[in-house]
Amino acid sequence: MTQQTAAREQGPETLGFQTEVRQLLQLMIHSLYSNKEIFLRELISNASDAADKLRFEALASPDLLADDPELGIRIEIDKDAGTIAVTDNGIGMSRDELVENLGTIARSGTAEFLERMTGDEKQDASLIGQFGVGFYSAFIVADRVTVDSRRAGVDAADGVRWSSDGQGEFTIEPAELEARGTRVTLHLKADEKEFADAFRVESLVRKYSDHISFPVTLADTGGEEPEPRVVNSATALWTRPRGDVSDDEYREFYKHLSHDFADPLSWSHNRVEGKREYTSLLYIPKNPPFDLWNREAPRGLKLYVQRVFIMDDAEQFLPLYLRFVKGVVDSSDLPLNVSRELLQQDPDLTAIRSALTRRVLDMLKKLDDDDYQAFWAQFGNVVKEGLVEDHANRERIAKLLRFATTEDSSETQPHSLEDYVARAAEGQDSIYYLLADSHATAIASPHLERLRDKGIEVLLLTDPIDPWVVDHLQEFDGKAFVDVARDDLSLPEGGEEMTREAREEEHKSLLEKIRQVLADRVESVKVSQRLVDSPACVVSAADELSPQVRRMLEASGQQVPASKPILEVNVEHPLVSRLSAAADDERFSALSNIVLDHALLAEGSQLENPADYVRRMNALLLEIDAAGDSKDE
Ligand code: ADP
Ligand code: MG
Repeated sequence: MTQQTAAREQGPETLGFQTEVRQLLQLMIHSLYSNKEIFLRELISNASDAADKLRFEALASPDLLADDPELGIRIEIDKDAGTIAVTDNGIGMSRDELVENLGTIARSGTAEFLERMTGDEKQDASLIGQFGVGFYSAFIVADRVTVDSRRAGVDAADGVRWSSDGQGEFTIEPAELEARGTRVTLHLKADEKEFADAFRVESLVRKYSDHISFPVTLADTGGEEPEPRVVNSATALWTRPRGDVSDDEYREFYKHLSHDFADPLSWSHNRVEGKREYTSLLYIPKNPPFDLWNREAPRGLKLYVQRVFIMDDAEQFLPLYLRFVKGVVDSSDLPLNVSRELLQQDPDLTAIRSALTRRVLDMLKKLDDDDYQAFWAQFGNVVKEGLVEDHANRERIAKLLRFATTEDSSETQPHSLEDYVARAAEGQDSIYYLLADSHATAIASPHLERLRDKGIEVLLLTDPIDPWVVDHLQEFDGKAFVDVARDDLSLPEGGEEMTREAREEEHKSLLEKIRQVLADRVESVKVSQRLVDSPACVVSAADELSPQVRRMLEASGQQVPASKPILEVNVEHPLVSRLSAAADDERFSALSNIVLDHALLAEGSQLENPADYVRRMNALLLEIDAAGDSKDE
């Protein structure tokens, strides 16, 4: 007895969906209800992928196509039975592939993604759209789905039938299948019978799947339509001249490629002739995929060679920092048997890659203001990686950067460096920036006081990657980046009564006294030129790590050499005057420590000994209270 007949005698085997699939099914059925028609796009998209894969495998093994070489997709509807079936003669699936592909979600990060779902239909619909729901969307309209599949190259007896009501389990059993490929049959829910209507289905195919490069045939079994007929244009969209493709067609093609629900922000479709001939169609999405920050997530373009699909996620065509770009490259002269390894070694690929990179940077540059702000809010931090990764395009990338600044305190409309430079006063040869852990900390920072007074704009950098951004840039448009929380800050002259040196001299003994009291906690104590309203602030020496970078490194578990900040005091501040008038040493010490504590807190540091601070502060508050009480008497 062969294994096959043994299995047949066993009958159907029942298996459970992976937990994530169960959750996804539940969420999807509820949140995508108003978008239910997309199931057809998803099934046709899978059928087209399957045909693509077979065409690719047949390059090496032509036998796989056997006596059925015309690849295509067929939709059959049956109103009486209440079914719609999507059939392809593509690659097909073995038993194990069915279990794996239609019973689990292999993508890493799925569990965390599902946790982000809120139950709020609208919000979840857009999240789920970014995830890409694929095959499982069939259960939005069907209460039972059957998948019959026979892998290319295996016998009719080795077919498999998968079946489920989408409630948590599926069955799998051997099936005798005449034809190669996959047939997905949806038993429509009682109130979804509209999807067994020829007119409705035809309009959906035209709307969502016209660009599919294989013919999609519609057959109305037992209906009024006598003859099956092809209902899409069946030419690969990117092979058509730009002028013949409508915006809607470009948008639908994007959704097919990306599984995104939202329209793309922009696209660029080009045919390049020359040493290497290729067509590219690149899209900038509006929403990031759920796994944008997962370094192992699939990325890159779909590669075709002379319209034959070669591979998904061909990451060699774009650098990592442009991983959000979706699209297609169709090369006329790469060999059909090209592999990832061969691509890596291909000397001409570098040229294609840099041309595509330039094209994307150009698309970004051309986005209008609103679209660009929307793009930046989602992908800005990814683009910043380009400064490190793509040295050749550093200047182009620098122009794409956006930062919050003191020009206005809104975080949502960040500014370009070009705008900053255009607003800078004549003679200002630096671009000033402040590092902070949050926007709120930044705008309240004492380090900005004098700069504000002088009307100098400061970039407010609050992303963890920002310190590296300014480090790599060094300068923009001939102006050096200058950290306003550094000891060596020198501001454009004007309005000061005395030089720093003169002031230091004048307050020498006070500074020395504070330094002695705080010797364990600070490197040195200096007169500040940058304060107006605050009594003190902390700054770091020019060659030290900034406190933000220090905290970040520490948080990631790295050993960072200890260092003490420099305390700067505002000698005009009443609190500092009070300090110099302090009669006894204990009080002087308490006040000095509090001044330092406050400077550290304002900068975003944690106090090493908060209990000490609280004790000193309480003592001080009691004194104030006692003073108030005695006044009342
Ligand atoms: P995706 O298409 O994004 O991978 P789907 O949920 O649509 O996700 O499909 C899951 C997997 O099931 C596919 O990657 C593919 O391997 C397999 N699959 C689905 N439909 C077919 C089909 N018609 N022919 C062959 N394989 C299919
Ligand atoms: Mg799919």
